Amino acid sequence: MANEVNNFQELISHCKEYGYIFQSSEIYDGLAAVYDYGQNGAQLKKNIRDYWWKSMTQLHDNIVGIDAAIFMHPTTWKASGHVDNFSDPMIDNKDSNKRYRVDHLIESYADEQKAMGNEQLATALLSMMDVLLAKNDFAGLKKLIEDNKIKCAVSKTSNWTDVREFNLMFSTQIGSVAEESDTIYLRPETAQGIFVNFLNVQKTGRMKIPFGIAQTGKAFRNEIVARQFIFRMREFEQMEMQFFVRPGTQMEWYNFWKEERKKWHESLGVPAAKLRFHDHVKLAHYADAALDIEFEFPFGWKELEGIHSRTDFDLKQHQEYSKKKIQYFDNDLNEAGKPYGNYIPYVVETSVGLDRLVLTILSLSYAEEKWNKEDGTEDSRVVLRIPAKIAPTKLAILPLVKKDGLPEIARELMNDCKQSFHCFYEEKDAIGKRYRRMDAIGTPFCVTIDHQTKEDNTVTIRYRDTMVQERIALVEVKNLLTEKLK
Ligand code: ATP
Repeated sequence: MANEVNNFQELISHCKEYGYIFQSSEIYDGLAAVYDYGQNGAQLKKNIRDYWWKSMTQLHDNIVGIDAAIFMHPTTWKASGHVDNFSDPMIDNKDSNKRYRVDHLIESYADEQKAMGNEQLATALLSMMDVLLAKNDFAGLKKLIEDNKIKCAVSKTSNWTDVREFNLMFSTQIGSVAEESDTIYLRPETAQGIFVNFLNVQKTGRMKIPFGIAQTGKAFRNEIVARQFIFRMREFEQMEMQFFVRPGTQMEWYNFWKEERKKWHESLGVPAAKLRFHDHVKLAHYADAALDIEFEFPFGWKELEGIHSRTDFDLKQHQEYSKKKIQYFDNDLNEAGKPYGNYIPYVVETSVGLDRLVLTILSLSYAEEKWNKEDGTEDSRVVLRIPAKIAPTKLAILPLVKKDGLPEIARELMNDCKQSFHCFYEEKDAIGKRYRRMDAIGTPFCVTIDHQTKEDNTVTIRYRDTMVQERIALVEVKNLLTEKLK
């Protein structure tokens, strides 16, 4: 894929102009940190989701997929620890009343220091922050902010409140009477829908450990600092897989999934050099090991996916709160020749944000290109070099003119191809302009039907990435595309 986008704002404008991503409720001036996907964005997102779903469920014969509801019994979130623990340390600036997530505030300051060449200071600051976060030492975090004279971006002062916890779950009422017992939450992660269905799936699918349950779906978090476009939203989509394993084997599977998931990102066209692992120092309440797969976004290295060894925490909690036994009988034999017997499985989770993946692909794909033509004049284009297998539209079918029977041939080709892949038909404007539009949308192949087509049944195929054009037989178009999209 092409060079990274230097100006993030240009990518955001491009996404809007070409039907990828719009601000939600834009006509009412938008809703902060909520976005809508347009005709091209929705298709790109679906293609990435399908690619993930296929690789998880079809290509792993011990992983099945489910689709659990967003609403869940409120006790789910008590059991999972989200009611008590799903919070971030926050700090408010007293002059601007702006609220910050403490880790974000310190991280941006460290980024600034790095940019100014103070690499050592930045590294020391971040490792001190990690230690304090791990100890939940709020007074220490406030002191770190004050000692470094970290300022609010709005008021430019260091007049801070104490550090406090803020729960990120959205709540709402179910039923018509708004009593406290009716309060339910919008799920902040899809994982719990998998845990509460563990026995349903294991029994009905006759699944044998180790096995996985995958699902994709919306999750909701009342993020305080919601910025950087679709990187951090209040409503977003996750693609999660919980892998149930025999206790004691979790680190083996943790390492397996860590590598497997990195390879998966590379198979999607993300260069290895733009991916790295970041081990967690502060572990979540449920984890015995955790890491992030980070991607180098246009605004720096950030989490794209989390790999967590969640122990038996979740299943154990649901067993306790529901008072229903959640166990697995393992009849494989141990070293002593006896069945492993009954236990609560351990879990290794892979959790990736679909919207963050869309942003990853778009930021890698976006390129502004300039070159000199044969006559010496300059030409330019903006192109989205989205990998063909996930591009929203695969083939543009373009009759050179709107007459002389060319549209009829084009329509026939369209009818022949549209069952197999997504095509787009266009007969308006000069051909060069139509090519540029397809480049900007990221369509990898264009086929032009011209007068020669009527004579010898050949067409011009144009490749987005190289802009090379060649003549091929009309009957070959579908086969060629099918081959290229594999
Ligand atoms: P962060 O530290 O960036 O807040 P997290 O560690 O809270 O993320 P997880 O709970 O591990 O995230 O969620 C798994 C994945 O879901 C993340 O790797 C990310 O891709 C995605 N994700 C989490 N929060 C958001 C959000 N607010 N907007 C978009 N994607 C998100």
